Amino acid sequence: MFTLNKIHNFAALTQNTYLMNQISERIQAMAQSATLAMSQKSNELKAQGVDVINLSVGEPDFYTPEHIKEAAKKAIDENCSFYTPVPGYMSLRKAISAKLKNENGLDYAPEQIVVGNGAKQALCNVILATINKGDEVIIPTPAWVSYVEMVKLAEGVNVLVPADITQDFKISPEQLRAAITPRTRMVLICSPSNPTGSVYSKEELQGLVDVLKDCPDIIVLADEIYEHINFMGSFTSLGSFPEIAERTVIINGVSKAYAMTGWRVGYCAAPLAIAKAVTKLQGQYTSGCSSIAQKAAEAAYTGSQECVAEMCVAFERRRNLVVELASKIPGLKVNRPQGAFYLFPEVSAYFGKKYGDRMIETAGDLAMYLLEEAHVATVDGAAFCLPGYIRLSYATSDENIREAMRRIAEALAKLS
Ligand code: PMP
Ligand code: GLU
Repeated sequence: MFTLNKIHNFAALTQNTYLMNQISERIQAMAQSATLAMSQKSNELKAQGVDVINLSVGEPDFYTPEHIKEAAKKAIDENCSFYTPVPGYMSLRKAISAKLKNENGLDYAPEQIVVGNGAKQALCNVILATINKGDEVIIPTPAWVSYVEMVKLAEGVNVLVPADITQDFKISPEQLRAAITPRTRMVLICSPSNPTGSVYSKEELQGLVDVLKDCPDIIVLADEIYEHINFMGSFTSLGSFPEIAERTVIINGVSKAYAMTGWRVGYCAAPLAIAKAVTKLQGQYTSGCSSIAQKAAEAAYTGSQECVAEMCVAFERRRNLVVELASKIPGLKVNRPQGAFYLFPEVSAYFGKKYGDRMIETAGDLAMYLLEEAHVATVDGAAFCLPGYIRLSYATSDENIREAMRRIAEALAKLS
């Protein structure tokens, strides 16, 4: 039996009202990142000696490939230690421009690319640089935890368009059309998706593009960070549709494809005016991203791509395993994700059930129950704006996946 005392003590400290009224309304209104919070909780429990399997945070469990690490070491030895250009080294932006051309058939000049501290900063940069107070941003849900908070930061209005498991978590062109108003300024599409792993096919994207082509004032923000963790056999970038290409902003980076989450390199590829605005913004609050990390990212883009394919094969094998095991658990409704490394089961069959004096009323209750009873960390689907689901990240070993699913099945079986 373990206790959550340390966590509760920490929570009590952070709930202290001292200086609370000095915190800006903007930040008070912001939700904490649930993915990072759950992962932190799981790490704290591990530090207390609890054998937790962490399926909460979404990051590859592989080490960064050797040739990329070598490039970083070389950069250190060559005294690559000075401020970098705000939008990133030209050599890196050229490498990204070539990647977008060769892999995706897109025409973004190096001047249209701005490298930032991860895709997260790249996304936030673009939203802050384009959204005015009251502008509407359409976000299909479930959606990654940070999008709505970034839009709130920009004082925009989130327009959530839900797509549940019955439609494989993908919105239809009709839903998109119905959500558009004269105030719509942006549509944010993430494919392959976090948190569901769903991938829009070329035809499905074409359906959305057919709606968007008649709305010239809408910026299309395409989060393609999971591009290479894709089991469909091919990937279509939203930037490849000529009808919307000149107002499409691509977000991508090295975190997922090259197992480089801690290096913090991502980018936006955007119309020139947006790239310039993003550069101005970034120049005032973070400057260019780490010199060493940029050199490593350049090696990732220009070196052999075999490592990317190898990791994808491992993720696909794990996808097969997690889907097979989850499908056998009564009460979990699962789809078959085509990309990323997440499973997003519907869990409402357990609502109203209890074990001892613990009653499960929401997916949040269930995620907490699984942490305490099964020692498996997951994330409440409500954090992704779709209650009734939990997210499992299967970016972990086959052995961990088997053991986690065994524990989950055992804990769920106790609920009645
Ligand atoms: N977009 C999505 C959908 C993600 O899941 C993540 C990972 N947190 C990011 C962007 C940000 O990635 P990065 O590590 O490059 O900041
Ligand atoms: N993409 C990961 C996740 O969703 C990383 C954590 C985060 O930045 O949200 O879990």
